[in-house]
Amino acid sequence: MSEAYDVIVIGGGPAGYPAAIRAAQNKLKTACIDEWKNPDGSATFGGTCLNAGCIPSKALLESSELLHRAQAEFATHGIQTGPVSMDVAAMQKRKAGIVKGMTGGILQLFKAAGVTALQGHGKFLGDGKVEFTAHDGSVKQLSAKHVVLASGSQPMPLKTAPFDGKSIVDSWGALEFDAVPKRLGVIGAGVIGLELGSVWRRLGAEVVVLEALPDFLAIADQQLAKEALKHFKKQGLDIRLGAKVTGAKAAKNGVQVEYSDSVGATQSLTVDKLVVCIGRRPHTQNLLGERSGVELDERGFIKVDHDCRTGVPNVWAVGDCVRGPMLAHKGKEEGVAVADRIAGLYAEVNYRTIPSVIYTAPEIAWVGQTEEQVKASGRPYKIGSFPFLASGRARAMEASQGFVKLIAAKDDDEILGVHVIGPMAGELIAEAVLAMEYSASTEDLQRTIHAHPTLSEGLHEAALAADKRAIDMPNR
Ligand code: FAD
Ligand code: NAD
Repeated sequence: MSEAYDVIVIGGGPAGYPAAIRAAQNKLKTACIDEWKNPDGSATFGGTCLNAGCIPSKALLESSELLHRAQAEFATHGIQTGPVSMDVAAMQKRKAGIVKGMTGGILQLFKAAGVTALQGHGKFLGDGKVEFTAHDGSVKQLSAKHVVLASGSQPMPLKTAPFDGKSIVDSWGALEFDAVPKRLGVIGAGVIGLELGSVWRRLGAEVVVLEALPDFLAIADQQLAKEALKHFKKQGLDIRLGAKVTGAKAAKNGVQVEYSDSVGATQSLTVDKLVVCIGRRPHTQNLLGERSGVELDERGFIKVDHDCRTGVPNVWAVGDCVRGPMLAHKGKEEGVAVADRIAGLYAEVNYRTIPSVIYTAPEIAWVGQTEEQVKASGRPYKIGSFPFLASGRARAMEASQGFVKLIAAKDDDEILGVHVIGPMAGELIAEAVLAMEYSASTEDLQRTIHAHPTLSEGLHEAALAADKRAIDMPNR
C-alpha cells in the first residue's frame, strides 16, 4: 500500500514550502519532499533562496555595507574610530547562523501547519504516483490527488569557464569564501554579479566584471541603469561591457581568463577566484518518470498555463522551474495560488506587478514597465522624477544618491511603471506595487499623505512632478 496524500509538493524552496503550508491550511493532507543537502551533510528545507541565495547574500551585503560605512562615512557624522577591519570568519559565522535559523524555521512551520516533511528525492511517475527516495536510500511509493512540482533552478554553466569548485565557482561558492580574494573575476553583470561583486569589493577585493552584452542592466529602465553604472564604477567595480569569455583555466598564479572585448580584440586577465553567474536554468533532472506526461519547453522549463497547470490533470508546477522571472516572491505567490486553486478557492497572480530589487548600494528597485517598453507600446506617457538630493531624510541618512522615476499614461493617468535607485529602494517599491495592484493613478498617489521626513515622500513628489506640481523641487 502506498502512503496517500491529497497534495504532494516536490521541492521545498520559496515556491514549494508556501504551497505545502497553504494546502495544509486548506485542510488538505499534504507532504513536501526536498532533497537539499549542504556541504556538511545536513539536509535542510528552504531551497536555493534560504540556503544559497537571497538570505545568505543579503547577510553578506549588510555586513560588508556596514564595514564600508564605518570606513568611509562615520567620520562625516563626527564619529571617531580607530582602524576598522573585517573578521571574515565572524562575518561568515553570522551568515551561517541566520541561514540555520531560517531553514530550521520551515520545519517548525510545517509542524504547526500539519505538513509531512520528507527529506530526500521525489520523482513524479504519472497517475498521481510519486516515488520518494530518502537520504538513507530507502524507497517509498506515495500517491496524491494533486502533485505540485517546485524543483527550482541551478546555476547555468559556461563551457569556456567550467566550474572546478575551488577557483572557478558559482554563486554558492562565492558566498562561502573564507578569505577576501585579492583579485576577483565575475562573469555576468546581472543581479548576482552586481550583488556579490559589491560584497567582495567592499571587503577589499579588486573586482573585474565581464558582461557579454553591450548594454548595462539591459532588463532595467536605462536611465536607472546609467545612474547605477556611474555609482558602481565610482565604488571601484571594473565593469567591462561587450566582453565574451573564450576560456578560463586555473593555474598556479591564479585563474587565467581570456576574452574578446567590445571591439573584438583578445584580452586576458588573471584573478584569484572567478565567479560564473550568467543566469540559472530549470532543475528537472530525474524529476519526471517516463510516463509522467509532463512536458518541458525548448529551454527545459516545465510547460504551464497562466494558472500553473501542466498539461496533465491535477499536476501543477511553480517557481523557478516554470516561465517568468526567477524570483522568490514570484514563486511564493504561484505556490500559494496553486494550493488555493486545488482547494477550489479563487486565486490570481498578477504578473504585471512583480517587483524586482537589486540589493546593491544604492539599491535598485522597479515594478511595471520601463520607459523603453512604454515608448515601444506607443501609448503617450508622462514622467515624474524626484532626486533623493532634495529629500531631507535621505540627506540626514547621508544617502542622497539616486532618484524616483514614475511613468504614467497621459490618457487616463494610470501608473505604468515606477523605478527607484537610492536608499531603501526595495522597501519603497512596495507602495508602488500596491498602487499598481489597485490600478491607482498618479492623482491617487498625489492625494495620499506621506509622513515627513521620510524617503517615501520621494514617490509622492515624483507623482506630483508627473503633472508639474512638485513642491520640494523645481518643475521642468
Ligand atoms: P529553489 O529555491 O531552487 O528550490 C527548489 C528546491 O527543490 C531545492 O531545495 C531542491 O533541492 C529541491 N528539489 C529539486 N528537485 C527535487 C526533487 N526531484 N526531489 C526533491 N527535491 C527536489 N530572489 C529574490 O526574489 N530575491 C533575492 O534577493 C534573491 N537573491 C538571490 C541570490 C542568489 C545568490 C541566488 C542564486 C538567487 C537569488 N534569488 C533571489 C533567486 C531565488 O533564490 C529563486 O528565485 C528562488 O529560490 C526560487 O524558488 P524555487 O522554490 O522555485 O526553487
Ligand atoms: P542574470 O540573468 O540576472 O544575469 C546574467 C548576466 O550574465 C546577464 O547580464 C547576461 O547578459 C550575462 N551573460 C550571459 N552569458 C554571458 C557570458 N557568456 N559572458 C558574460 N556575460 C554573460 O542572472 P544571475 O545574475 O546569474 O542571476 C540568476 C537569477 O537569480 C536571476 O534570474 C535573478 O533574478 C535571480 N536573483 C535575484 C536576485 C534579487 O532578486 N535581488 C539576486 C540574485 C539572483
